[in-house]
Amino acid sequence: MKPTILIVEDDPQNRKLLSELLAIKGYPVLEAVDGSQGVDLAFEHRPGLILMDIQLPKMDGFEALRILKNDMRTREIPIWVLTASAMRDDAARSRFCGCDEYITKPLDLPDLLSRIQRLFGPAAEEQDGAARSDVEVPQ
Ligand code: MN
Repeated sequence: MKPTILIVEDDPQNRKLLSELLAIKGYPVLEAVDGSQGVDLAFEHRPGLILMDIQLPKMDGFEALRILKNDMRTREIPIWVLTASAMRDDAARSRFCGCDEYITKPLDLPDLLSRIQRLFGPAAEEQDGAARSDVEVPQ
């Protein structure tokens, strides 16, 4: 089973696009429509990665980041902020709040996918049936 990815995004079209793309690639996906639900789902499921929008209802992405990065249960989970490139101050503030990567919208989906594959490494990526017998793993 590949690692679960939590998408925290209030825009239904963006959320659906990401969710479908990741599901096609075999990742179990969780979806949150606001920051508060994102934090709740992160505590409950401890996903392998969180993709976090910044402009969100109820609780914005900065606050959600701050909460998750200050809690023992979730501080190790990589959180990648996704936000519009026009919002220049978001990058610095996201770093300050503890985000691990900062990705600008509109999303470059092939690039995002390859970053995700690099994050989880070949072991996680090939658990869906690809043959590994020809791979020599150095001890
Ligand atoms: Mn938004």
